Amino acid sequence: MTVRSSRHGLLVVIAGPSGVGKGTVHTRVRSLLPDAVLSVSATTRAPRDGEVDGVDYHFVSPQRFQELVDGDALLEWAEYAGNRYGTPSEPVASAVAAGHVVVLDIELQGALQVRAHDPSALLLFLAPPSFEELERRLLARGTEDPAALDRRLTRAREELDQAHHFDVTVINDDLDRCVAEVVAIIEQARHEPL
Ligand code: 5GP
Repeated sequence: MTVRSSRHGLLVVIAGPSGVGKGTVHTRVRSLLPDAVLSVSATTRAPRDGEVDGVDYHFVSPQRFQELVDGDALLEWAEYAGNRYGTPSEPVASAVAAGHVVVLDIELQGALQVRAHDPSALLLFLAPPSFEELERRLLARGTEDPAALDRRLTRAREELDQAHHFDVTVINDDLDRCVAEVVAIIEQARHEPL
């Protein structure tokens, strides 16, 4: 067995229900881990105001998404609240091989697919302090119409019940504390022998 004691590339999934603060945690984690990169997913969802194609997502048609699935170009994919989302495999594989931490912001079904493909991936589940707090944060965000909000809350309940599939659960109660915990967990995993 080759033991590499220095930091090695690592695939990290930070999943959790919509509204838990994943986007903010991802951004902060990346600012603290300079060589971490965020995978840019493909989605059939329409861009929100301010979202940029190729940066926030690759916004694709349902036909194009199906081509990616058929061509085995996605590491994982899932349907979420009426749209499809998936992680392009190739950029992730090259970045991990180059020694980067690659962070995926994906929902639960996708996280479980990553686990099946890559047992060495680190799976972190970001949980809200309570379901009521999650509901409050999603409402305050104001990005969804009532029907979409309802779908996201239903899905959130299902996701919270599945946290036990993950390596670690981190509660996003206080942002600074939560980010510090996530960074410490990632750093520790990077230093573990392969
Ligand atoms: P949003 O529409 O709010 O950007 O994302 C909705 C959900 O889809 C979030 O939980 C987000 O983490 C998840 N998501 C984003 N990209 C992917 C992906 O590539 N694969 C999977 N499985 N989920 C994703």
